Amino acid sequence: MMSGPKSLTLVGEGKKGARIHDLVKAPANTPWARARQQSWDANEPATVYYTPETLADGTPCSAVTVILRTKGCHWWWSSGCTFCGYFNDTRDDVTNEDLHAQWAYAKEKYDDFKDHAMVKVYTSGSLLEDREIPVEFQETVLRDCHDLGKELIVESRCEQLTEEKLAWASKINQSFAVAVGLEAYDDEVLRFHVNKGFTTKSWDRAVENLKKFNIRIKTYLMFKPPFMSEADALNHGVKWIEDVAERSDEISVNPMNIQRGTIIDRLHRNNEYRPPWLWSLVEMIRRVHPTIHPNGGKNGDADQVCRLIIHPTAGGRVRGAHNCGSCDSAVVAAIERYAVSGELEEFEGLSCECEAAWKEEILLEQALPVPLGISKHRRGNLLNRLRSP
Ligand code: SF4
Ligand SMILES: [Zn+2]
Repeated sequence: MMSGPKSLTLVGEGKKGARIHDLVKAPANTPWARARQQSWDANEPATVYYTPETLADGTPCSAVTVILRTKGCHWWWSSGCTFCGYFNDTRDDVTNEDLHAQWAYAKEKYDDFKDHAMVKVYTSGSLLEDREIPVEFQETVLRDCHDLGKELIVESRCEQLTEEKLAWASKINQSFAVAVGLEAYDDEVLRFHVNKGFTTKSWDRAVENLKKFNIRIKTYLMFKPPFMSEADALNHGVKWIEDVAERSDEISVNPMNIQRGTIIDRLHRNNEYRPPWLWSLVEMIRRVHPTIHPNGGKNGDADQVCRLIIHPTAGGRVRGAHNCGSCDSAVVAAIERYAVSGELEEFEGLSCECEAAWKEEILLEQALPVPLGISKHRRGNLLNRLRSP
């Protein structure tokens, strides 16, 4: 047998590669994560709060968000997405009674939601997944919101949105919307960057089914998933919005914010990932604006294809989308104003010295073969970086 130095050292040392699955799972089993899971009371939801929102017909309203403590997401049990920190708020012993108690707590806190026209019920997974949420509780949420006359929003992965399940749900409640964490309209990114466990095809199917029952669709897209340069994130972000706009009632772009114990958290700690620049979000909005408003209109005008919301969670912070530090709050504010108005004028007059550094980074990343990008914070091991996919 021939032996000798391998010619392709850049692809590894012949050892079995680490599986993304194992990397995702490791932190959930650490003592700090276990201790945290046991620390909370299963009779109370993780959080209940309210925010300004917009009803399906465009009327401004107030919305209560109820984040329940659940068993979590079945995809997380078997694998999990690379940025998902929901395991921090879930525990496998949550019962049907616990969930009903949490729901009663939320209703009582806000007086049967009397001052709020919309209720969002989030379960760190999919409300309509029977393995995660007892059917009886699914029914309680759907029925209560129907009886109280509230517009309901629930979250779901794609595979739960079957014709059969939606037929059942829409018999109980005719006014709900489903928010789907699609993250990327790109099978390669879904598989290798996000570890999402479903494909664009399953989203296509889910959308068809939702349309059959006239159920509104909110699509979440992730801006700058792990293992991606800033320039790629920008180009992909624009493309995915264009791909899904016609088939979504609302697109919500979530710029990556780093949650504790996730893969993206480890990359970030190792200085191998920089959360997106706020300038990239502004640029993305500028590029997709004509897709959302083909006749140059603004939100509420007849030409609007769908709603586009960008809310930079932890915007301006090191773990969220950020610029240089001095212009961050002004840029975040402009992005949030755009989500309401749909007018590019919101960005007029915004400028800062750091914009040139951002622009240079995007240009270089488009010209150099560095798949993970050259962001300033990327100071990790050069060799590992070159070996990366
Ligand atoms: S599908 Fe959603 S809840 Fe489940 S692991 Fe992925 S991001 Fe987390
Ligand atoms: Zn700046």
